[in-house]
Amino acid sequence: MKFKENISLAAFSNYKIGGPARFFFEAKGEREIAWAMKEAKRMRIPVFVLAGGTNILMDDGGFAGLVLRPTMRKIRMRRGAVKGSVEVEADAGASMSELLGFAAQRSLAGFEWAGGLPGTVGGAVRGNAGCFGGEMKDRIVSVRSFDPRTMKVRTRTVKQCAFGYRDSVFKQLEKRKGGGEIVLSAAFRLSGGDANAIVREAKKRIAYRREHQPLEYPNIGSMFKNVPLETLHSKGGAKYRAAVTAGELLYKGTRFSVKMDPFPMIAAAKLISEAGLRGVSMGGAMISPKHPNFIVNALGASSWDVAVLMLLVKEVVRRKFGVRLEEEVQMI
Ligand SMILES: Cc1cc2nc3c(=O)[nH]c(=O)nc-3n(C[C@H](O)[C@H](O)[C@H](O)COP(=O)(O)OP(=O)(O)OC[C@H]3O[C@@H](n4cnc5c(N)ncnc54)[C@H](O)[C@@H]3O)c2cc1C
Repeated sequence: MKFKENISLAAFSNYKIGGPARFFFEAKGEREIAWAMKEAKRMRIPVFVLAGGTNILMDDGGFAGLVLRPTMRKIRMRRGAVKGSVEVEADAGASMSELLGFAAQRSLAGFEWAGGLPGTVGGAVRGNAGCFGGEMKDRIVSVRSFDPRTMKVRTRTVKQCAFGYRDSVFKQLEKRKGGGEIVLSAAFRLSGGDANAIVREAKKRIAYRREHQPLEYPNIGSMFKNVPLETLHSKGGAKYRAAVTAGELLYKGTRFSVKMDPFPMIAAAKLISEAGLRGVSMGGAMISPKHPNFIVNALGASSWDVAVLMLLVKEVVRRKFGVRLEEEVQMI
């Protein structure tokens, strides 16, 4: 086994942006992951895990370490812990659409919300991906991961994964010395359903995305997290409760819908739109007029173009609304 060298990351990015990885390795299984991590430790180089590349802004300067791509993608069904229940276990490299397709073919419901959600199981578990009222954590039973500090595989229950809004223990562990863990596979609890209804529901989500998201351009989804209502009004206070009951909020002269997905929040897209930033561009990057929380690669954008627009969005929204937007995408 050998690392490849100087591989362009743009080819692995949904954004089509990114310089070369000094070292690059696609691991076909857990033993290859262990080997690559051992090798990186020996070479004293940092490691970045890249999966579907649908949520990462990669720097034009590239990455001066190892980019590791887990590519194992088996999905299997097994008997659940509760009598009569079914669990599906998927490898980290399986795509979310493969997982949804596997479940639909077996009339297993629970992932319809993920229709059209790009990326892999590993990426979705790590970020607790969610939309249309669903989140990865709702169906997870357990997650297996590789810990580069002990060089061992461990299994966590859903509780031990400490999932939050676009958050998990795996995301948190990336901040520690010695590197985060690599998600290897996850087991999900699904329920019996009707195959046609499952496909119909998933297709509705796909159609919604086509209509409302700028999928015609390379993009990495929503750039910023939606804003919890409690950052505007104290949780449980009169204004907070009134906004939740009404499903809307008048804030600094602007009317916002309050979404309950997964808890009371206002859309970052609306803040960006009301800040007058729809369609603003920098170099080849543009704040999408169709969905302003997307910054699209309209015409050969550089990572710099995107980064400048992200800074602009944060600054203008902060000045107009006093709200600090937090990045949803990862930057390397
Ligand atoms: C058009 C579009 C729509 C989107 N809509 C949504 C949405 O509705 N909801 C939502 O939540 N997201 C959405 N996203 C963002 C993205 O699809 C998800 O976050 C997805 O789960 C990322 O998976 P990925 O495999 O592409 O991960 P990548 O983009 O490759 O990686 C994302 C992060 O996860 C880490 N990672 C990846 N695999 C592993 C692993 N096996 N172990 C440890 N860490 C890992 C990476 O290091 C990186 O930090 C959208 C993106 C696009 C392009």
